[in-house]
Amino acid sequence: MSSWTRSSWREKPIKQQPLYANQEMLKSVEQELSKYPPLVFAGEVRQLKASLADVVAGKAFLLQGGDCAESFTEFNAVNIRDMFKVMLQMAVVLTFAGGCPIVKVGRLAGQFAKPRSSDYEEMNGVSLPSYRGDIINDMDFTEEARVPNPKRMLKAYNQSAATMNLLRAFSRGGLADLHQVHKWTLGFVSKSPLGERYQHLCDRISETLAFMEACGITSANTPNINETVVYTSHEALLLNYEEALTRQDSLTGDWYDCSAHMLWIGDRTRNVDEAHVEFLSGVKNPIGIKAGPTTTVESLMALIQKLNPENEAGRLNIIVRMGADKIETEFPKLVRAVKAAGAHVLWSIDPMHGNTIKASNNYKTRSFDEVLREVKGFFKVHEEEGTFPGGVHLEMTGQDVTECIGGAQEITEENLACRYHTQCDPRLNANQALELAFLIADSLKA
Ligand code: PEP
Ligand code: MN
Repeated sequence: MSSWTRSSWREKPIKQQPLYANQEMLKSVEQELSKYPPLVFAGEVRQLKASLADVVAGKAFLLQGGDCAESFTEFNAVNIRDMFKVMLQMAVVLTFAGGCPIVKVGRLAGQFAKPRSSDYEEMNGVSLPSYRGDIINDMDFTEEARVPNPKRMLKAYNQSAATMNLLRAFSRGGLADLHQVHKWTLGFVSKSPLGERYQHLCDRISETLAFMEACGITSANTPNINETVVYTSHEALLLNYEEALTRQDSLTGDWYDCSAHMLWIGDRTRNVDEAHVEFLSGVKNPIGIKAGPTTTVESLMALIQKLNPENEAGRLNIIVRMGADKIETEFPKLVRAVKAAGAHVLWSIDPMHGNTIKASNNYKTRSFDEVLREVKGFFKVHEEEGTFPGGVHLEMTGQDVTECIGGAQEITEENLACRYHTQCDPRLNANQALELAFLIADSLKA
């Protein structure tokens, strides 16, 4: 730890990286990026950490969600606005029906680099290097498209900056005003059974706001009524990019990765002796650790020790992704060990990545029922162990896509082809995300 620098990760073994042919270009991009302004500020990161500490104490709930991968082609204001609206809707459901303040964290403004299960992809007998996310190469299935290009980091930075700018405007410029709850509903949701349930909740919120105003509690004296905070996060996978955006805070002298408020380590790169863990051990941001079925008690305890030696609440978010079949058998031993060690961690559930299947027509999909079953298993384990289920981590979109089967709209395998737009993994659409929020709210209240 004492020998940590922004670049000490370069001395360690590393997985899931592109091989850049043009090292000179790579270096010049890194230098350019390291001069660009930070996307987030240390003070904001500390605020998020304090909010996450509230979650650890059982006083709030974390809602983290967004695309599996952001893309250059799908980048536009409408997509960002609709994602923002769904997050607000879910947060309002969880706050009002679940009675719990919500910490909102998007998988956006930097969620570009993807770990892959294989270095190569095959199609019709042709084998090409895998697509690794728009920050690295292009999804087109041609030799040329798959060559990693360092300049893509600059484009990813610029897109992240514009996304961040819009998020800040949406958060404080009126869109997040609770008086607008009725207007957050997206067209296709309003026609669904969920839409009705949501409208009913909105009516009660409007009534409550009118009552509060009559009592003198207005947005003039209580800005929480018409403003919100949405933090950003992504997987810290491409360390060249992360290193270039890591800056020393002038106030405290501490190092922060200013590419996002929260960074996480993926299930494939969480080895305690390797580069990704080394890099994140030295920055002060809140850190997520994906914990899949191969996570042993020993490896998790070693990660906790390395990444949070001072046992600071709000620093670590263990993102459990066991799969619906394994959550109740594999998860309890982790909870018990962490509890016995007295380690302060936030436990959240990613019910997406352990439940990915191939439909009979070859689409990669997830079943809403299995997603829900894993969430329920997560709550059940916490209830049995006397610990707090702190949050949920979802792949979702504000768009009316057909990527996950089931839910109130009863999307079938045959429907998948209708609007399957994801750049990588299948996402919950706005209806499915809202439905899940209502179901989680019921568990939080119970
Ligand atoms: C992801 O969150 O998109 C991802 C790849 O997850 P995991 O590392 O848990 O497989
Ligand atoms: Mn994914």
